[in-house]
Amino acid sequence: MRYALLAVCLAAACAHSTAQTAPRNVIRVGVWTLWHDKQVAVTPLAGATLRPCTTCKAQPLAELAVRVKDAGIAWIDRSGHARAATEILLAGRYRLDAHREQLTLRYPLRITAVAGALVLSATMPVERYVELAVAAESGAADGPESRKALAVVARSFALGPSHGHTAFDVCDSTHCQWVRWRTMPEAYAATLATAGESLWFHGSRTGAYFHQNCGGRTAAASEVWPGRVGNGPLLSRADNYCQRAGSSEWSATLTHRELTLALAAAGLAAPEWKSLNVVRRGESGRAVTLRVGSAEISAENFRLAVGRSLGWNRIRSNWFEVSPQGDEFLFHGRGSGHGVGLCQVGAAEMARAGLGYREILAQYFPGATEAEETTGAAWQWLSGRGFTLETSEAADSVYLPRLAEALAEARNRSGLSPHAALTVRAFRSTPAFRDATLAPGWVAAFTEGELIAAQPLRILAVRKLLAGVMRHEFLHALVEEQATANAPLWLREGLVEAWSGDAHRLRKPVLTPEQAGQKLAHAESEAESTAAHEAAGWYAAQLLDRYGRAQVLEWLRSGVPERALAILL
Ligand SMILES: [Zn+2]
Ligand SMILES: [Zn+2]
Ligand SMILES: [Zn+2]
Repeated sequence: MRYALLAVCLAAACAHSTAQTAPRNVIRVGVWTLWHDKQVAVTPLAGATLRPCTTCKAQPLAELAVRVKDAGIAWIDRSGHARAATEILLAGRYRLDAHREQLTLRYPLRITAVAGALVLSATMPVERYVELAVAAESGAADGPESRKALAVVARSFALGPSHGHTAFDVCDSTHCQWVRWRTMPEAYAATLATAGESLWFHGSRTGAYFHQNCGGRTAAASEVWPGRVGNGPLLSRADNYCQRAGSSEWSATLTHRELTLALAAAGLAAPEWKSLNVVRRGESGRAVTLRVGSAEISAENFRLAVGRSLGWNRIRSNWFEVSPQGDEFLFHGRGSGHGVGLCQVGAAEMARAGLGYREILAQYFPGATEAEETTGAAWQWLSGRGFTLETSEAADSVYLPRLAEALAEARNRSGLSPHAALTVRAFRSTPAFRDATLAPGWVAAFTEGELIAAQPLRILAVRKLLAGVMRHEFLHALVEEQATANAPLWLREGLVEAWSGDAHRLRKPVLTPEQAGQKLAHAESEAESTAAHEAAGWYAAQLLDRYGRAQVLEWLRSGVPERALAILL
């Protein structure tokens, strides 16, 4: 279960502050937007419901075939009656089926019809969308740091200015950011490690973009989108990194007939044209304006028109020379994509050279700052002894000594030393923590690999939880470093409990280790989570007492043998 917070921690008290609300914590994502499906089959899965209008009562969802009818939609209801409406709303888990593709979703979905095609819009947390975009858009060359940079860019894009859609905020095609509706652990890690972080420029949130390969120099935003007011941090800059990865030169030959069809499909050129020239170039050298016959068109619109009709591998960028040859036009260019913002090939190369995601962002968004999503306060990276504290509250530096003590205590109790630098990322409010990590508000902090995400340190300190919570989380980070996939969740959580407090003094639990593990992965409430933690702690404490620390650490790698457990049950 990829989304399970493997190291959910109990908070003795939880903050229910609503003083600060995020500007946007959910986003509407268009589903299958390039398909313009006229019909889609819907199959109900767990807890699926349907509402035929926003104010209507939810009813259990039956199998549906939804199709376009007149200006709205129609479907057959459970008793076989045909129904029509302007929209339907689905919730729970359901499967969609159209154009020989299936998709299982668990996000609220609104289905409407526009211009004779169904429009599907799923509402999901912004962070889930960022994760899906990183999963689809990152490539094999990417490392953890370039994926983190991409996550910040994808989030800034999502929260940035409108992308020109009405029924949803972003589409799932490359027009916005590609979404394949599946994720991968690396995308989750990059999203979580940068949670709550977006790009700001002179005190306002700034939109951000990325492209595949700039060809050695990125484009200023105004070269590609000439109507745009001001470039902000989207300037033209030399990029030595992508050039190290190899040549990005390309050539293409297009016939007069192909170009005529592509331009006509986009409504761009007069039918009678013979000549095609670049009449204006931008500061990076990219074509900005072309003259086709007697008409002037933007080079970006030309690239998009050719891409849509003839494929994206023909005219790969606006950085080209063009010359006529008989009935054909020869293009020779470099780079791939619009060239604005982050160059993915360059970013991957920077990561390979050992640079961090903040250095990558500084290269491609000069002058921008990585700021806290809701307030624009700059994120700061404070070094502690054995860890880094990431926070947008400068005053948090007063907690550095207490965090260092908590880490020292965790090392002491477990006898383990960290292999890698640990990171504590502290959020400035409970809503910011919840929106950015998608953890429930009753979680004080949780650990994922070497990253600890925490509620505001100030709140934990006021509630006298700071030392205990941080020691507990540092223990998690130390245990996770030792564990392999063979180690059951109850053992990982249980060892932390056993080393944290007095798990061995508890009574024998009702839950079996396996049941405790299930509840740890999917606790429905704080009480359930507490019981599961206590049970796991009891079992781990018994194992430590009977078999000793060295043996139990070995089982973290190899798994716990049946016979060792049998004695306890
Ligand atoms: Zn825990
Ligand atoms: Zn779009
Ligand atoms: Zn580049």
